Amino acid sequence: MELIKLPEDSPEIDCLISTADRLVHGSDGDACLLGIQIGIVTGPCIADCGFCSFAVSTTNADDFVMSGKELEGIVRHATQHGDVSVISLMTIHNFDFDDLMDAVRTVKGIVPDNVRIAVNTGDLSQEECMALSRAGVSRAYHSIRLDEGDVTLLNPLDRSITVRNLGNAGLKVIGCVEPIGPEHTPEYIVRRYYDAFDEGYDECSAAKRIAVPGTRLYGSGEISDRRLMQIRSVLYLSDAGRYGGFYGGLDHAYAEYAGSPKDNADYSERSLGRSIEKVRKEMFGSGYEFIIRPDGSRIRLDEDYLRRTGSL
Ligand code: SF4
Repeated sequence: MELIKLPEDSPEIDCLISTADRLVHGSDGDACLLGIQIGIVTGPCIADCGFCSFAVSTTNADDFVMSGKELEGIVRHATQHGDVSVISLMTIHNFDFDDLMDAVRTVKGIVPDNVRIAVNTGDLSQEECMALSRAGVSRAYHSIRLDEGDVTLLNPLDRSITVRNLGNAGLKVIGCVEPIGPEHTPEYIVRRYYDAFDEGYDECSAAKRIAVPGTRLYGSGEISDRRLMQIRSVLYLSDAGRYGGFYGGLDHAYAEYAGSPKDNADYSERSLGRSIEKVRKEMFGSGYEFIIRPDGSRIRLDEDYLRRTGSL
């Protein structure tokens, strides 16, 4: 908590960020993992989160359910070079569970068994979690957000019950201290990180709130990328074994396709979400030398690879 309180531009924070960076790069032989997240069900969302482009009271988005054909096209494109380990299917809070199951079956029918399928959805019953597990879903992102219930219309207890349901069904449950804004205190950030493990999460990370034009919290601003790196580095150094997930910003990176809560664009891959090609290039730029493939083998991430995968 004391380290998060330090000014983000202090020499101590230079040292802290560089120490975390060296450890992250050293921990897995400078290798990173790639994933994609696809907004398969988007549109006006009754959870009405103050930071989200789909919040029902402020959104311009139309109801959208991705067709199997479009989903197949995205998945085939993103996985054609065999270096994407996780495919996450995202929905808004109000969604038809059958649409999600259809999407899981479509993806399962395309990718090899070692590509993990994840979900990022509204609250789920125990039966629904079991059905997802039986269909081959192995991970779920389901965070209890900062100020959940105040800036959202969701009940934190319902979110927490879903976390338990997912865990009981055998899914790995990933959380994140998010969306961090300038108003969040070091005490609150640290408490949410450690509470996550008591609540049943397997991994947790940290992410900042993106100020999306038109949302209720747009005027509340954003923390800087440097401040986010400070928070991530402190949490990672305090508990490296449990810091993780694709929103964590260290050695995992998601490309985001179709709608995304942090983006007003219909195709987030062309905007803030970044395509898989951009993500490869970004990880190369961050100094990663290998990508870990779904089977655990490594492919060298160099200029030649970027060229061959259309990522330069
Ligand atoms: S963040 Fe998720 S739950 Fe909240 S309004 Fe957006 S889509 Fe709905």
